[in-house]
Amino acid sequence: MQSPRTQLSQAATSARQDYDVLVVGAGFAGMYMLYRLRRLGLRARVLEAGDGVGGTWYWNRYPGARCDVESVQYSYQFSPELEQEWTWSERYATQPEILRYANHVSERFDLRRDIQFGTRVVSAVYDDAAARWTLTTGTGESFAAPFCVMATGCLSATNRPRIPGLDDFDGPVHHTGEWPHEGVDFSGQRVGVIGTGSSAIQSIPVIAQQAGHLYVFQRTPHYTVPAHNAPLAPDYVRAIKAEYRSLRARAKQMFSGIDFRINPSSALAVDAQTREREYESRWEYGGTTFMGAFSDLLFDRDSNETAAEFVRGKIRSIVRDPKVAHALSPRDIIGCKRLCVDTDYYATFNRPNVTLVDVTEAPIERITPAGVRADGRDYALDALVLATGFDAMTGALNRIDIRGQGGRALKDKWREGPKSYLGLMVAGFPNLFTVTGPGSPSVLTNMLPSIEQHVDWIADCIEYLRVRGIARIEPTVEAQEAWVEHVREVAGPNLRSVCSSWYIGANVPGKPRVFMPYIGGFPQYVARCEEIVAAGYAGFDLGPSRAPR
Ligand code: NAP
Repeated sequence: MQSPRTQLSQAATSARQDYDVLVVGAGFAGMYMLYRLRRLGLRARVLEAGDGVGGTWYWNRYPGARCDVESVQYSYQFSPELEQEWTWSERYATQPEILRYANHVSERFDLRRDIQFGTRVVSAVYDDAAARWTLTTGTGESFAAPFCVMATGCLSATNRPRIPGLDDFDGPVHHTGEWPHEGVDFSGQRVGVIGTGSSAIQSIPVIAQQAGHLYVFQRTPHYTVPAHNAPLAPDYVRAIKAEYRSLRARAKQMFSGIDFRINPSSALAVDAQTREREYESRWEYGGTTFMGAFSDLLFDRDSNETAAEFVRGKIRSIVRDPKVAHALSPRDIIGCKRLCVDTDYYATFNRPNVTLVDVTEAPIERITPAGVRADGRDYALDALVLATGFDAMTGALNRIDIRGQGGRALKDKWREGPKSYLGLMVAGFPNLFTVTGPGSPSVLTNMLPSIEQHVDWIADCIEYLRVRGIARIEPTVEAQEAWVEHVREVAGPNLRSVCSSWYIGANVPGKPRVFMPYIGGFPQYVARCEEIVAAGYAGFDLGPSRAPR
């Protein structure tokens, strides 16, 4: 007779669902991963916490949400047919349009049948002897496979501020990254927005149009440039569709994976008038390409200051109240925190129903049942919006109990900051891949090409192993250390590494301060990944072998 323990473990085994590859997340990374795995003839299962595809675009439904990379570039390129049949309607696509695109992709490639929605993965444990990952969900379901791909996103774990009294507020509290699907009606209400990053800067002008009164609680002013969004003319769309291949090829040669013109000159090498003209034309064009005005804006503080002062001048010219204009003017490096892109952000502060509450000097004291206490006053509110961002890059991974060889937890290994090889794999965690993980260009680039490059690399790697009957891949500690050192070294001279941004984990109290993305540029990074593969996966331990398929 079997012991109860054996019976239990057999029951667990029979309930466990086995696959070739498990993928966590059905955003753009997870969807393309599934597509590639299927084409390799592998049995894959995607586990997704939400009830639909789209990842960040599924969750971030706040008013005014749109992408700040132009729509014709923020799209998949793996399928020329998809490129031709999908038509973007605006220069910068709205969240609903991007979500429609994600849904279209999932239907066009019949992806949904292998995605299990409403399924949050809570743990991922590697069994060394069996060389398998077992994933457990919040409802106790269990899935196993030799390979696991974390397609969990870089900005998907929301950062809820630790402000005293937050749970005591009587009205609704909405985080921009977990916005109610049915929308929120702020008509006539007194609304408080905490935060002034990209999400706030997009939502504030829209909320202000609806709210009775809007209070914006600003801890740090952020630089933002106008989007100058507009519908896309049919002729423009036709021209783009005709030259998609060359557009994509040009973009791949760019540092950010986005095709745009960078002025090779230093800001200090030209006279003040020429400089002003360049900034003015970039401001008029709109978008983050503003930072391409001169080549040294992110390397030389004096050059950077010329761009920063140009934007401050714009704020002074738009915002009528000089005190408000001053409070809205950032003093630090432009582009250090991610440059925001807006529609009417600064002008919104001229509205009589909008008040800027500057909490730069003294933090918000507390949230009370009736509102926010800050700046020595009580602000009575009906609703509160937390535009307080994300536990970026590591948050989504660390919120899953990931255990590698010997039961070691990833979050323990990353206690001093994330360490990985290429942002793709972590020593001690065999056969676990991270799409756009820390240590890869990811958030410093156009996410779509970066995702596709990682997914292709992972799919090719799994195929390489299968063909050769290799059961296991893992980076060596030496290769990982060398990569981490390289990531740190290239970040050094870049001004983006010096301020308190989410790039270095500064927005989450207690998070280790490490510049997480790779700032060596997309083309350089891709070349390195390809060299490593060409050298037979240099820096990885491969083995042991089993019978080739
Ligand atoms: P964010 O850039 O991290 O901004 C969060 C804001 O909340 C900051 O102003 C921050 O102030 C403030 N904050 C945080 N905790 C606070 C506290 N306890 N008290 C007062 N203020 C507090 O987050 P996000 O705006 O959601 O954007 C995150 C990233 O998502 C962006 O940088 C971008 O990469 C991406 N995103 C992109 C788009 C787009 O494509 N258009 C739109 C939205 C987001 P401090 O600056 O002082 O920390």
